[in-house]
Amino acid sequence: MTTTKTDLPPDRPADRPGRPESREVKELRELKTAQPDLAAAADMQIELLGAQKRIQSRVPLPSATFDRRKPDNTGRRPVLQFKDIPIDWSDFRLMIRQTADILRRFETLELADYDRIQALARDGQIEAVVATWYETAMAPARRKTDPRTHERELLDQVLLLSMRPFLARCAEALLPRLELSDWRQPTCPLCGGEPEFAFINPAAERLLICGRCTGQWRFDPITCPYCENADRTRITSFTSRDGRYRIYACDECHRYLKAFDGRDGSRPALLAVDSIATLPLDAAAIQRGYQS
Ligand SMILES: [Zn+2]
Ligand SMILES: [Zn+2]
Repeated sequence: MTTTKTDLPPDRPADRPGRPESREVKELRELKTAQPDLAAAADMQIELLGAQKRIQSRVPLPSATFDRRKPDNTGRRPVLQFKDIPIDWSDFRLMIRQTADILRRFETLELADYDRIQALARDGQIEAVVATWYETAMAPARRKTDPRTHERELLDQVLLLSMRPFLARCAEALLPRLELSDWRQPTCPLCGGEPEFAFINPAAERLLICGRCTGQWRFDPITCPYCENADRTRITSFTSRDGRYRIYACDECHRYLKAFDGRDGSRPALLAVDSIATLPLDAAAIQRGYQS
């Protein structure tokens, strides 16, 4: 394995104090101490975060503004078009290579898959591959009609991680400018992504967190965001031992959503931390026959 820039410590002095990654990295380190079983996953996450934040700091503000724009609730069309995402393709290729390096170093990527991803990073068609990934994930019914192969799942995951610096930058800049009071959809109003996590805020509202851009939006507190089953007798809910996290498992589509319970106002949801802290809950949900 070649040494890459990702070997730099994530909290090097160039990072200003108080930036979000500092808090996430600090929480991940605490998690390692509290739950040594999660140490490898936390270390991998710290490296992925470092790579993402370094690229994200170079992403320019998107040129679109979207002031007070309302996403189209009926067509469920997200407002951010692929052409409006400020992607520097050499940075994107770097991000893919670094992501693959980190996953490989932590043994979550087989050598053959690693080689395929590295080849993709060099492929002249990469822009078209990413555009298709961005646009097809907008179709909420896709999962039912298009059961994905291992290769497809893996590619989706690597593209999701590699696009995050660009999409998170867009979410940071554009999501606060959208008029979302009428948005009742389970998909991200900005980029069309699926929710990966949820946050229960101090007002006891449930916000969904986009797996692609990490933006948040309000959604019904019970309804399954994957199949929109709203029958609460068909939603199985359980919490982690410490009560900080909750799972909503759907007995219709058998998918589940995890949430950080922030009703006590202790902190906001931190996707990078909470997704690792809840790995034991994933195991519990999968054991009960649900899938993420
Ligand atoms: Zn999004
Ligand atoms: Zn469902």
